[in-house]
Amino acid sequence: MARVITDPTSLRSLLGDRKTGFVPTMGALHAGHAALIRRSAHENALTVVSVFVNPTQFDDPNDLARYPRDLDRDVAVAADAGADIVYAPDVTAVYPPGFSTFVEVAGLTERWEGAARPGHFRGVATVVTILLNTVRPRRAYFGEKDYQQLLVVRRLHRDLQLPGEIVGCPTVREADGLALSSRNARLTPQQRAEAVAIPRALFAMASAARAGEVSAARLLQLGQEHLAAPLSLIVEYLAIVDGETLDPVEHVAPGARAIIAARLGPVRLIDNVALLDEAAGSR
Ligand code: AMP
Repeated sequence: MARVITDPTSLRSLLGDRKTGFVPTMGALHAGHAALIRRSAHENALTVVSVFVNPTQFDDPNDLARYPRDLDRDVAVAADAGADIVYAPDVTAVYPPGFSTFVEVAGLTERWEGAARPGHFRGVATVVTILLNTVRPRRAYFGEKDYQQLLVVRRLHRDLQLPGEIVGCPTVREADGLALSSRNARLTPQQRAEAVAIPRALFAMASAARAGEVSAARLLQLGQEHLAAPLSLIVEYLAIVDGETLDPVEHVAPGARAIIAARLGPVRLIDNVALLDEAAGSR
């Protein structure tokens, strides 16, 4: 059973200078989170999983209110995957009264998810900096599923000269290819069936790129064809980008990535794949 700690000072004194692996999450743990936790447990003497629904990264108060919370279940899933400690602070333990310091990662955060969700990455960068400073891990694990977030975390970690290492982990998918996400549970059966078009489009683009297609325009057209049929799926963006800068590219080169955000009713899903190989963001 994992030990649950809610107070940053107690966590700090418990951890001391032990070589710790850290998996930050917002709870509602699924097999994607469990893969990160298992990897940390394998690579580190001690694994801490944080469960904290970070209010500063939600631009929509309804989304924050609706976010699923079940700490007992999360503790059981984390422990089963090998976590030793679950850090579950309340909001004032992370943001005490008078809190007024934020971390902004310029440039990288301006487009895609940053453009769609104003303030989102400021909240992510701020909470990740606070959590990394509380846990001071030797390694911290983040999923490629949230690819732009992984790049933002790598950048703040480098720019602020934080200790330890950021480890990117592959996206865990359902059998039909849909990336695991706590949001999937909110899809109706019909929307869930339609959502499979997202990974199918990405995989079709990757296999065409691997077969030699270098034109981003032609690959995007191919992806759009897979997304045209589902009735309730609305594509917010589908793009081919450089895997480090997230700038759109015209020709596919090593490191290029296809990224997508799409809505099915009120549920917004994101996904991405490397088109040719694993991008630098995953190393
Ligand atoms: P979240 O709880 O959604 O903030 O996610 C916590 C961590 O788990 C982040 O680093 C995510 O990128 C990662 N994660 C979420 N879903 C997946 C998935 N399907 N595969 C791999 N990692 C994931």
